[in-house]
Parts: sequence; structure tokens; C-alpha cells
Amino acid sequence: MTILCYHSVDPAWESPLAMRPGEFADHAAWLARHRTVVPLSEAVNRLDRRGRLPRGMAALTFDDGFAGVLEHALPEVQRHRLPTTIFLVAQTLTDEGLDAWWVRTPPPWPLATLTVEEVLHLRDLGVDLQSHSWAHQDLPELDEDRCERDLRQSREFLEDLLHGPVPFLAYPRGLHDDGVRRAARRAGYSHAFALPEGPERVDEYAVPRVGIHRGNNTRTLWVKSQPRYLDARHARRHVARTGRRLLKIG
Ligand SMILES: [Zn+2]
Repeated sequence: MTILCYHSVDPAWESPLAMRPGEFADHAAWLARHRTVVPLSEAVNRLDRRGRLPRGMAALTFDDGFAGVLEHALPEVQRHRLPTTIFLVAQTLTDEGLDAWWVRTPPPWPLATLTVEEVLHLRDLGVDLQSHSWAHQDLPELDEDRCERDLRQSREFLEDLLHGPVPFLAYPRGLHDDGVRRAARRAGYSHAFALPEGPERVDEYAVPRVGIHRGNNTRTLWVKSQPRYLDARHARRHVARTGRRLLKIG
């Protein structure tokens, strides 16, 4: 099946990035009933050459470390005992902090990201915490050395904080190129996760995920978690490639 990418769960934030709590509760119940949700560390060992998991298997990830995940997703994740990974923007956890500047569809109020205390609480509950870079910059815009420093700084900061290894990276907005993938490897990650919207290479540093958005019901989740979805979508987008450029919202 596939690796799913959510962002926040938030009743008030009207954005593709924020599932409504009821929608997410339905997803969690559906996944628990119809899929074997495995930890991301297990999923990466079960991927085939095209980045697909064995039939019936899924993995659950959240990007950006929004506080809404703790408040509105965690209860459902715990109720159904779903292994979960959250990709954190490391600089949001420093003393100086970092606003969620990268969100293109923000609400009229400041978006809260997880605090250090909340991250440690999640770790103690068994939630897997990994890297979403230092400051959520579009990594292909950085030169390769700068990119490597950003990714290494994030990994080392999170490893110090969590007292454990941080081998996984989710590229901000899923964006990567040859230099970014090399930088991720040199910065010490074993795997890095993308959000392909068209034909893309697949390897340890370009593991595909499927984005799930506000308004997606469990029927959409079923379609998106089909092993064929990545391939079929690639074919559709390939045909439409000469048309509009698709918005990267992650
Ligand atoms: Zn992100």
C-alpha cells in the first residue's frame, strides 16, 4: 500500500493541510480496520522498487509538527494503536523559535507548533519523531553544502533533544533534486521522503508518500492508499504535464 502524509488536524483552520477532527477520526478507524499500519522504520524495509508497500500495509506520517496533531490526532491514533511518525521543523523547537512561515494557506491567527515539552511527551508515548529540516526552506534553492549543513543541524539537534537516532527526513514540500538527495545522505539520514506529484525517481532518498487533505473522506483514502494510486496518478499527471504546474502545498 502506501505511506500517507498528513499535516494538521484542526477544526477551525480551513486549509487543505488541516483535516477536520471528524474526518481524521474516520480515517484512523478505517485504517485500523482495513490496513496494517506499521512503523515507518518497518515500512522502509518493505518497500518495493516503485516505493510501494505490500498489499494491506500502510504507514502514517504528519509533516510540520503542528500542535493540532497533539490535540486532535493523538487521541484517535492512541485509540486505534496506530504507529505514527511526526516530522519536526527543528528550528521551531529552539529558544529563538520559528513561526510557521512556510504555510501558504495560514489562518488569521498564529499557527502553533509543538513545544519541546510536548515533543518529549509524544516521544514518551511512543510516537516516532523525525526531521523535516532545520527551517523548512525549499532545499533545491540551497547550494549543496548549505543544504547539508541545514539537514545535519536538524538531525543533530533532534537527536540531542530526543536522546535517540533520527534517521529519517521529510523534504519540505517534498522538494528534492540530485544535490538535495546527496546532501541528505551526507548529513547522515538513511531515508528521505518525498510527495511526488508526477513521475519521480524512487530510492532511499526519494521515498514516495501520498498527501491526504481536508475534505478527503475514507473513500478518497481508500483510492489514495491503493498500490496502483502512485502509478495511475503518475500516468495522469504525465498526460497533463504540459498543462498547469501543480501547486506544492506541503
Ligand atoms: Zn512541511
